[in-house]
Amino acid sequence: MIPMVDLKKQYLSLKDEIDPAIQHALGATQYILGPNVSDFEQEAADYLGVKHTIGVASGTDALHLALIAAGIKQGDEVITTPFTFIATAEAIKYVGAIPVFVDIEPDTFNIDTVQVQAAITPATRAILPVHLFGQPADMSELQTIAEKHKLVIVEDCAQSFGADIDGNQSGSLGIAGCFSFFPSKNLGCFGDGGLISTNSDEMAEHLKVLRNHGSWKRYHHSELGFNSRLDELQAVVLRAKLKHIDEYNQQRRRVAHRYTSTLAQLPGITPPHEDGKGTHVYHQYTLLSEQRDEIMQALQAENIACAVYYPIPLHQQEVFSEDCANLSLPVTEKVVSQCMSLPIYPELEDEQIDEILEVIKGVTLG
Ligand SMILES: *Cc1c(COP(=O)(O)O)cnc(C)c1O
Repeated sequence: MIPMVDLKKQYLSLKDEIDPAIQHALGATQYILGPNVSDFEQEAADYLGVKHTIGVASGTDALHLALIAAGIKQGDEVITTPFTFIATAEAIKYVGAIPVFVDIEPDTFNIDTVQVQAAITPATRAILPVHLFGQPADMSELQTIAEKHKLVIVEDCAQSFGADIDGNQSGSLGIAGCFSFFPSKNLGCFGDGGLISTNSDEMAEHLKVLRNHGSWKRYHHSELGFNSRLDELQAVVLRAKLKHIDEYNQQRRRVAHRYTSTLAQLPGITPPHEDGKGTHVYHQYTLLSEQRDEIMQALQAENIACAVYYPIPLHQQEVFSEDCANLSLPVTEKVVSQCMSLPIYPELEDEQIDEILEVIKGVTLG
């Protein structure tokens, strides 16, 4: 049995560090916005090379609060990708803005910057790229477009913690970067958690107010806020894991490259493409094949997990039917019909990878 991720192995490798630190935090009783949250925020800001990070309750909230703090309002248009998790576009709708979905690149699956440029209207205020599966979107081109049209970029970094873009971290190039610590993410905690990174003092102050009921001082509420704070116990876990994130991402790259060296030789399989514009940290290993369904059946028969991320693109989701009437995005639709993801996590062993590759060989060379 090979799972998509093995969270137990990672926990056991850090148990001796995490368990006593949690015990300590339990005894210290500063359960809300305690010292581990502020220490983690500092450590994460240092790692990401940004002035501020603000811990929040989830990646979804990170996106939502970042859009509010970026001034995105009712009727504004936000250009984003349809090939992502629903939360990216939910956040746009939460602030009353309009998600404008544009097509993706066929090889990296990231937002196509030519399509972004073409979708700009007088109502466009922001671009919301996703660094999908851990590979950074083309930030330098997006920054050029954003500057020219006076737009802000909010980065969805839920899958890209630690991905480098020409010496900068994902999440350090837009007006804000939004991270998720959902347990299965590259950097995951033991429940829900999220983080916003920013170099703007003003935005950081605003985000701290927004996450804490719109309160700048106890029982003084300047605006409508939220209860969205990173949990103290989750911060304990994140502080332990942050120290290992580079090693985890390197191990993910090891797994990916072992897959690719074999899969690139097989007929009818397109392994993931690294475009070299940033370091792919392989939150997922996603290939294309016209034999996708047969490959998945063969893997499942051997008790090997596999999955389709994402089977329905956002412009075809019922919830967005009014925003997307008659919208067709052919590249996305083709990718969705052929993509599948293989197990990938730092602890996945070479022998397990080879076992998976044997099954895929059996189908494609069959
Ligand atoms: C996981 C994810 C989110 C949402 O994060 P949560 O912490 O689950 O709220 C947002 N965007 C993308 C691309 C994600 O993968």
